[in-house]
Amino acid sequence: MNLKSLKNQTVKDRKVIVRVDYNVPIKDGKVKDTNRILASLETIDYLLKNGAKQIILMSHLGRPKRAETYEQTLKDNHDLSLSQIIPELEKLLSEKVTFCQSLDLPEDKIVLLENLRFHEGEKKDDLNFAKKLAQLADLYVNDAFSSSHRAHVSVSRLSTLLPACAGFSLHREVEMLSKLTQDPKRPFVMIIGGAKISDKVSAIANLAKIADTVLVGGGVANNFLKAEGFDVAKSYLQDVPADLAKEGVDFVEFADKLLEDAQQEHTLIDNYIPLPKIIYPVDVMTAKSPDAKSAKEVNLLRCENQSCYEADDMFLDIGPRTIKLFSKVIMSAKTIFWNGPMGVFENETFSLGTKKIATAISKSKAESILGGGDTISSIKQFDLEGKFTYVSTAGGASLDFLSGKEMPGLKNLVE
Ligand code: AMP
Repeated sequence: MNLKSLKNQTVKDRKVIVRVDYNVPIKDGKVKDTNRILASLETIDYLLKNGAKQIILMSHLGRPKRAETYEQTLKDNHDLSLSQIIPELEKLLSEKVTFCQSLDLPEDKIVLLENLRFHEGEKKDDLNFAKKLAQLADLYVNDAFSSSHRAHVSVSRLSTLLPACAGFSLHREVEMLSKLTQDPKRPFVMIIGGAKISDKVSAIANLAKIADTVLVGGGVANNFLKAEGFDVAKSYLQDVPADLAKEGVDFVEFADKLLEDAQQEHTLIDNYIPLPKIIYPVDVMTAKSPDAKSAKEVNLLRCENQSCYEADDMFLDIGPRTIKLFSKVIMSAKTIFWNGPMGVFENETFSLGTKKIATAISKSKAESILGGGDTISSIKQFDLEGKFTYVSTAGGASLDFLSGKEMPGLKNLVE
């Protein structure tokens, strides 16, 4: 996907409105994670250095409850005001930033607008609100990949009213994720885990067509084990959310279809060991609850009539044989995509699978691309930050991108 680059736009003496993602965790008025602010600096610096007349920054923050009037919404949602970002932004940027509650802007060089979701029009993709924002500037830059799956004024409509291009952070995200969908270096290994399969089905379906091997762990694997005829006892199986149920989606059937489609495909490990394309756990760590202090190892392949576990047991982590098998596949990879922990890693009892898989990925020579909030928390927990090629903080947007869906925030930026 070739996006219109900021470098090809005239910036000098122009007013530039930039959609950033400052939807960051805040506690007691202080920013708790500055990654998204840091991600916006390159674009802002570039605009400053290239003589932009004014830089207008805009973002959403959380999910404010809207009152009858804008003034009342401001009062009711004090904890979601973007004014709280200013000290951190000024510190990181080493520049003064003026905060603006209204759309009557002063002439100051850098301004930050109040939380866009305080305006009724933002989420409704309202043309009149978009026109008000468009009047403020000569050029629109989208640097918020993580919001680009939403058809909101600041991420999509505005790009139809002004000359539009991609900021550097958005550009990099698209470039890295495109490595997975367009001609990845092979073998390409995709690793899926976590609990919520609902968020991931479309991305799994699309990437499974491209990947050489798919390793499935975590709660998501329970759907695959069930599809293969294993009794998963009381293990977590996500209920189908109402919108997907209406479309007749069933996660076990989804897993079954994926396994069936891949039946004839195999990967050769070390050039001679044939493995199925989709690999689910051969052993698991079980207990009665995710809070348990100890776990029992169950070899699923040696467990006739489910005799090795009880009807109220839960599968809460992958077992040692699976760790070995997955690690072997990971070591042979040239491209890796990982989303979702291998077990309930928050509890030390069930953290080994995720720790070992994360470590194997960090040691492999492959280009490694990671995504998902819990995946990122797990690499922090295991002190593995900085050991991967790229960590996407975009969550839902990256999964939508990888599923091949058209993204409202990108479609007008394509060259
Ligand atoms: P997700 O947001 O879908 O990536 O899910 C992340 C959550 O999945 C984490 O909080 C894990 O504790 C949870 N998880 C991982 N493996 C399992 C499992 N086998 N059973 C239940 N929950 C799991």
